[in-house]
Amino acid sequence: MRMTVLASGSKGNSTVIASAETSLLVDAGLSCRELLKRMKTANQDPAALSAILITHEHQDHIAGLATLARRLRIPVYITEPTHRAWVRMVTPRTTMTYAKWLDHIHAEKEARAAAESESDSDRVPHVREATVGILSSTTQEQEPEAVSLAAATDPDEDETPRETKPAPSYLPAVQYFHSGSNFSIGDISITPFTIPHDAADPCGFVFASRSEAVRMAIATDLGYMPPNVKSALQRVDVLLLESNHDLEMLKDGPYPWAVKQRVLSRVGHLSNHATAEFLAHDYDGGATYIVLGHLSEQNNAPELALFAAEQAIASRMSLLGNRILLAKQSAPLPSISV
Ligand SMILES: [Zn+2]
Ligand SMILES: [Zn+2]
Repeated sequence: MRMTVLASGSKGNSTVIASAETSLLVDAGLSCRELLKRMKTANQDPAALSAILITHEHQDHIAGLATLARRLRIPVYITEPTHRAWVRMVTPRTTMTYAKWLDHIHAEKEARAAAESESDSDRVPHVREATVGILSSTTQEQEPEAVSLAAATDPDEDETPRETKPAPSYLPAVQYFHSGSNFSIGDISITPFTIPHDAADPCGFVFASRSEAVRMAIATDLGYMPPNVKSALQRVDVLLLESNHDLEMLKDGPYPWAVKQRVLSRVGHLSNHATAEFLAHDYDGGATYIVLGHLSEQNNAPELALFAAEQAIASRMSLLGNRILLAKQSAPLPSISV
């Protein structure tokens, strides 16, 4: 089995998990173009991907999702609350101003009045035209996706028939999963687990290849290490784990107070210290590779994250076989095969 981290950090996350038969993309937090470019750099074939799995709806995990899923025509595995949150995010709100809305209501009223007087009037053609116009726009409103598109553009300037434009939230196929319930794609069995983070229904994943008896896990974007996460991360061979910030750098750093509070909170991100605590006290030491990820560019330094994790496992003799790697924001890591 192999893990290829294409990007990791607050500006975009994406990782390829592949067995001999199946290849999956976890998160699509860069543009479609950049994701394809990085897959090429990392020798990963986009055409081999069977599905995209999403951990949560934050931009740095989902930004390129729609374009990539449509381009590759592959299904998206996501929880229902995450999917709903994302659809809300990408669906443009109406751009109609109050004044425009009043005009619209007024025009509708006039059209109705005109339609009512149609029977006893000879001025029919003009009135009928207006009525038909209003009716057709009402028909379109029954298609919520079409309405959101109509709202995004000025209908008068929009020459393209609306049916040919997909809604921003259109995905070729969506498959819902629930945290805590296993599912399989090809020969990879997937166990999603809930993580504490400020998103609709965030999760991490454990991947197990049936044919190779190998397990890999991804756990980033979590405010702390609850018992369910600690137990999910046992018996894995490759572990991509968040080591987001150095506490001192965050406290002294440039973030506004409210943002610092958010990062530090129980639904924020794991500090180097919290990750080291887990590695020193709760981790079973089984992984051949530990990949530290989602490092903050503002509030962390790769050497600090690495040092904290190395110190943590150095105190445990059984863990000396571990190798610690640092995932990057700017470039893919070479594939890790076990
Ligand atoms: Zn993130
Ligand atoms: Zn997040």
